[in-house]
Amino acid sequence: MIHCEVWAGTPEAPYTWLLARQDASTARRAVRRRLVPMALRLAERLDDDPDTTPIPAAVLRAWESDALTHEDAIDALTRGQFVPAAVSVIAGSVLYTLAAMPANQCACLLPRPLADIAA
Ligand SMILES: [Zn+2]
Repeated sequence: MIHCEVWAGTPEAPYTWLLARQDASTARRAVRRRLVPMALRLAERLDDDPDTTPIPAAVLRAWESDALTHEDAIDALTRGQFVPAAVSVIAGSVLYTLAAMPANQCACLLPRPLADIAA
């Protein structure tokens, strides 16, 4: 199983807030059926934010049709490797990162800042 995730954070701490996660059974499905739609949804959300420029959304939409980069990500996932930043954009002061990782080693299993607060 592969986790496909949208993270928000900063360049120093890119994996701070998990915004969305979907699971995929194969590497190809992870990239084509999960990460690409997630990138387009994020682009739409950024379009609606009057504080951000159109540039981050344009980067996400360009990635949607970048088949060569998709194949690199699929190859890495097929080998069991992390794809820590399939695509990432800075909008305002927030870094958004789309990542795919083997479920059993995924960054979402690490302790989160919010978990520390709740403890
Ligand atoms: Zn995860």
